[in-house]
Amino acid sequence: MPFNRPAVFRPPSERRSYYLPLTSGCANNSCTFCAFYGSRLQIRPLEDIKGEIDALATCKSSGIRLAGADEAVYGMASYWDGRRLFLQDADALVYPFPKLREVLRYLNKKLPHLERIAAYATPQDARRLSLSELTELSQLKLGILYMGIESGDEAVLNRVGKGVDCKQMIEAGNKVKKAGIALSATVILGLGGAEMSRQHTAGTASILSDIDPDYAGALTLTLVPGTPLHRRWQNGGFNPLSPFQTLYELREIINTSRFSRCFLSSMHASNYLSVRGTLPQDRARMLAELDDVLKKGDPSLLRPESLRGL
Ligand code: SF4
Repeated sequence: MPFNRPAVFRPPSERRSYYLPLTSGCANNSCTFCAFYGSRLQIRPLEDIKGEIDALATCKSSGIRLAGADEAVYGMASYWDGRRLFLQDADALVYPFPKLREVLRYLNKKLPHLERIAAYATPQDARRLSLSELTELSQLKLGILYMGIESGDEAVLNRVGKGVDCKQMIEAGNKVKKAGIALSATVILGLGGAEMSRQHTAGTASILSDIDPDYAGALTLTLVPGTPLHRRWQNGGFNPLSPFQTLYELREIINTSRFSRCFLSSMHASNYLSVRGTLPQDRARMLAELDDVLKKGDPSLLRPESLRGL
């Protein structure tokens, strides 16, 4: 079966990156809220990936287009500044380690000005790889991993089929940091619905404090048609939070989490309000921004539903 280039799902901070697919889909396709639920993992052949790197490097160095390369390569190359590259897809770290190392070596060789390589990683991926393997990847410019934590409450994690518990996620996060790779942990506001909001918020602040990531990104739950959680909502089994209730969750997480130094943001397009800053020093300013909007209670201050994205 030919490899199908996946659509781009990327963190906001990777907007200027080149998107290089190693896989399509997600190996851990069990999360009931996620657009990747039930997706079939496709592993892209190594030679195919090297061919794309060759086409990209040739185009950037000489403007020459190699025959047979995907048009998407040239579309991205035309605006790419050559500094950052994001490995697709939802858990690129699942790519078999010897081949993954080879991809990174090849990128370093063909694109020597590359400053940082990034990818999504599941906690399962980070636990499976050894510390020395992760360290090798770090030395090959794998500079940041985006890891979905989603919640720090065991009951919420169980209910959404995350497949790992808090202890395992803390272990995974610590291993990534120890390998010298920056860690960005993402959590989902509203994931516990109204019923589990309090425990979701407390647990999430607690696990973020325990992991103490370099970056933390808050997303807001979007009910994706076709997912089990969407069906549960349609059947009356899930009571989502209102937009303002999600902001109360964000406020509580910012107020109660304890970091040594973490850039926390809600810039992702799924959120109703963008807040960002470095914790702990920006805590008071971030809380004041949220309190101002919460006090006014004016929906026009929030991102309209039609402009929210995944
Ligand atoms: S949340 Fe992450 S691990 Fe779970 S299905 Fe989606 S992409 Fe995969």
